[in-house]
This record gives sequence, structure tokens and C-alpha cells, in this order.
Amino acid sequence: MPHWTAMETVVNPVLAPGVPAAAIVDLRAIEANVRVLREHAGDAAVLAVVKADAYGHGLIPVARAARRGGATWVGTAQLDEAIALRDDGIDGRVFTWLQVPGADFAAALRRDIDLSAAAPWALTEIAVAARSIGVPARVHLKIDTGLGRNGAYGAGIEELITEARRHESEGSVQVVGIWSHFAYADDPDHPTVRHQQEVFEDAVRLAEAAGCELEVRHLANSAATLTNPSAQYDLVRPGLAVYGLSPVPQLGDPAAYGLTPAMTLVARLALVKDVPAGQGLSYAHRYVTSADTKVGLVPMGYADGLPRSASDAGPMVIGGRRYAVAGRVCMDQVVVDLGSDSMAQAGDLAVLFGPDSSSEPSAQDWAIASGTISYEIVTRLGPRVQRVYVGAQEDSS
Ligand SMILES: *Cc1c(COP(=O)(O)O)cnc(C)c1O
Repeated sequence: MPHWTAMETVVNPVLAPGVPAAAIVDLRAIEANVRVLREHAGDAAVLAVVKADAYGHGLIPVARAARRGGATWVGTAQLDEAIALRDDGIDGRVFTWLQVPGADFAAALRRDIDLSAAAPWALTEIAVAARSIGVPARVHLKIDTGLGRNGAYGAGIEELITEARRHESEGSVQVVGIWSHFAYADDPDHPTVRHQQEVFEDAVRLAEAAGCELEVRHLANSAATLTNPSAQYDLVRPGLAVYGLSPVPQLGDPAAYGLTPAMTLVARLALVKDVPAGQGLSYAHRYVTSADTKVGLVPMGYADGLPRSASDAGPMVIGGRRYAVAGRVCMDQVVVDLGSDSMAQAGDLAVLFGPDSSSEPSAQDWAIASGTISYEIVTRLGPRVQRVYVGAQEDSS
């Protein structure tokens, strides 16, 4: 079966008529990717990062699939998403790490969520919440080992550990982890990588000398999980690789690491029409037809997350042929110059990206076309793009 027909066969049963655009998410791919990451991680456990609505793939279905694949932990930046995971029945360990003063830490503790503290204010607020509900909080101390972003830095590291020990002795906090994040994980030979690991190991020694009984030391994101076994410690925190995308596209595509992209982004043509040579297409006529042709209207635009910077460049496949967006990406739509011999009709499928890089563009191709990274391509897809799930356990016979 030619691939195009295969794609229609896969998409048509799951994409209801009348749906303009959808992200089809293969949950079996998520599950398999987590299994692959477990193999890469050796003895370390896997925390699947499902922040930002699971990088646009859908928080709850992805978290379930990741748990099926063997992620003993799931994690989100924001507290609301961690709470949503628990309230939708996600078991195992849940970790959340980016809060501001006034956050409802008690709500997290009532749901048995692990918390991060990067500064003394967080320890103080977490301890108050823990006392109010009568259980000690499990806390991971965040160390800035050189990323220059979140975490205790320099002399602040010892201060954070001392504060944490004080709360531990009062019974309100239990320090279970020391953790940090790389600046150059995607460049494994960069000198900062080794240096950050040294700072990290010093912080671990300091915490242990102060009396912390650590359960997990964790530093590795996807890139470090795949390329730097010395950074795996007790737990790895992959995000992008869970979704089957390569965090190091310059070193290898997803297949090179045994990963399968989970998302296929499709739209249905809203219109196909004839236009003569010399007609400008879309705002500002940046693209002008060079011959009599047919144009197709794809009902997705920057409101749906297609970067406006993909104007004249964003790739897609229609009727088995590869095209690029013609002219500007608009809020709700883009135009494609289909060619005079195209057989495409309204209702036909446009595949913007998918897992089979031999026959369709990838999220990485969109990243290149837009001057960004594949993370942003999938994560910024808007709520108007319907998420359709295939491969949920419930479907399997
Ligand atoms: C987003 C994030 C991750 C996951 O990063 P990937 O590059 O997607 O694997 C891990 N740790 C922290 C702190 C993060 O913010």
C-alpha cells in the first residue's frame, strides 16, 4: 500500500468529518519511548516530564501512557498540572517544581505530591503547609549548578541546605532529593557539562554531610539521558524524548535513539480553486503564482500554533506530494500552491508533520522552517487543534 493511502487509512477512522485540524497522538509510541528511555537510563528511574499539557500532547492521556511504559515518576513545572494529574487518578510519584509565594502547597501535600524548593521562602511556606495538614513534605532542593536560571546558587546552596535541615529537625520537611538542570545538555562535550556535574556532586556531598538522607539525585533531561550516562544518577527527567522527538537533532534523529514521534498534525483542505499566473497569495502577496495553478486552503494558522515565521516555508504533504506554505501564515489559515495538475479537493488531508520522515515532514522540519526548536512546534499548538488519541490501552485487544 503506498504510504499516502496508508496515512488516509490511519487518519480517516479517527478524524471525524468536519474537524478542520487535529493532532493525532499515538499513546503506544509514548509508552514505547518511555521503555526505550528506561533502557538508556540504566539503573536510574524515569520521571516523564509532562509539563505544558505534555508538550502539547495532552496531560492526562500522556501521563497514563508514560506510567504504562514504566515511568515511576511524572513531573510538571506548575502546581495546577500536578494537582490535575492526581485528581485524574495518576498514581506513583508526582513532582512539581516552579511555584511562587502564595502557592497552595497544602493542596499539593494533601495529594502526596513531591515539591521543589529553590530558596528559603519556599521551605518556609512548604513547612507551614505541612504543619497545617500534619504530614511532612517531601522536598527536593534545587541547585543552580551553572545554568543561571532557577535554583540556589553559590553561597545560597549551603544556606538552603541549612534551612532545610532546620525544618527537617522540626518534622515539617523531609529532604528526599537534590536536583539541577543543564545549560548545554544538547552539546555533551561542552565544558560546562562536566563542571555542572562537579558542582552538583559537591552539593550532594554537602547535603549528606549536613544529615540529609537523599532518595534521588537528578540532573539529566532528555539530551543527557540519551548522550551522557555519567549524569543519570538515581533519576532522569526526560521530556522531549518521551514524545519521540530528538533533543539533539544535530547528533541523531529520533530513530537513531530508538524513539518514535507520537504526534501527527493534520488538517482538512477547506477549499481548492484555480488561480491564474501572477496572482499574489495571502497577505502582502509575498508569494506570486508563476503559472496557472490550483491553490488549496489549509485551515490552520498562528492562532493554532503554526509559527508566523514559517511563512513561505512550513512544509506539508497533500495527496502524496510535498509542498511549502505559500506566502504569509495568517491567524486561521495558510495557502498552498498545489500545481495545475493536482487532484486535491476540499476535505482532503494535509499532513503537516508526522512520524514517518521518509514520506512526511517532521516537527524538526517545521522547527528548521521557522527558526526554532521542535519543542516549540509541538508545545505551542493551540486549543483549537483537536487532540485525537490512538493506542490507548482501552483500544488494544
Ligand atoms: C522541561 C524540563 C525537563 C525536560 O527537558 P527535555 O529537554 O524536554 O528533556 C527536565 N527538567 C527540567 C527542570 C525542565 O524544566
